[in-house]
Amino acid sequence: MRLDLREMTALVTGGSRGIGAATVRSLHAAGARVHFTYAAASDAARALCAELGDDRVSSERCDSADPTALESLVAGCLERWGRIDVLVNNAGIYAENPLDGSDFAAWRAGWARTFAVNVFGVADLCWLVARSMRGNEPNPNGIRGRIVTITSRAAHRAEPEFADYAASKAAAGNLMKSIARGAARDGIVAFSVAPGFIATDMAAAAIAAEGKRIRAEIPSGRIGTPEEVANIVTFLASGLADYASGTTVDINGASYVR
Ligand code: NDP
Repeated sequence: MRLDLREMTALVTGGSRGIGAATVRSLHAAGARVHFTYAAASDAARALCAELGDDRVSSERCDSADPTALESLVAGCLERWGRIDVLVNNAGIYAENPLDGSDFAAWRAGWARTFAVNVFGVADLCWLVARSMRGNEPNPNGIRGRIVTITSRAAHRAEPEFADYAASKAAAGNLMKSIARGAARDGIVAFSVAPGFIATDMAAAAIAAEGKRIRAEIPSGRIGTPEEVANIVTFLASGLADYASGTTVDINGASYVR
């Protein structure tokens, strides 16, 4: 069995760092042409393109919370490639916003910002990309496109310290199920990948502050790597798992088994 993504085009959000950057590397190594977005880290994005070093990778700044920017992102990919085969919704934000905090305005702002990126940004991009995927030439199984969204263990375990984030990931995961059921007739498959703690910038502060407690929750005692998540994304993107459409792959070192 080989992961062969040659001839495939993939759009990855939030590819400048962490899980997104590992996913860009992995899809590219498997042969895909990859375009990725970032919010601000233009130097990191440029460095990743230079590292991969060919014309199969490109990047652009695009705020996932800006629907107009998403429209032009998709239009640009279609102009460049003619089709989008794989969408990886990876960009996401996380901030503590505890249920028992004291600032109501901050509570509301946290929910609004988190949902703008983690839910509406994902939903808008799925809508735009699915519209183009419906016009793709199908493979022998009738598959025209694949959507993979990085959700979180938090979506399933729930988290009182960042309930907005947990709810946003549950919503994005539910959207993947709706797409899997509703867009199957259009040849579109959809998956969620739900990581526990992964060693990236996003998790760095929590791991630094509470590494001992976090590791104690993980039977292997080890925090996952971005590459381990990217391996799963690449497998789902490859087409080898198409009949598993609608499912979620948990990747949390068995810290939350359900
Ligand atoms: P990082 O914070 O390390 O990287 C986030 C990436 O998303 C960066 O490329 C960032 O761009 C980009 N990004 C952030 N906001 C936006 C935006 N508004 N528009 C476009 N791009 C944006 O995160 P991780 O790699 O850790 O996380 C990746 C995904 O995995 C997220 O969806 C996260 O919720 C999820 N996840 C992560 C876990 C973990 O423990 N790390 C656990 C469970 C889920 P820039 O570099 O320009 O800021």
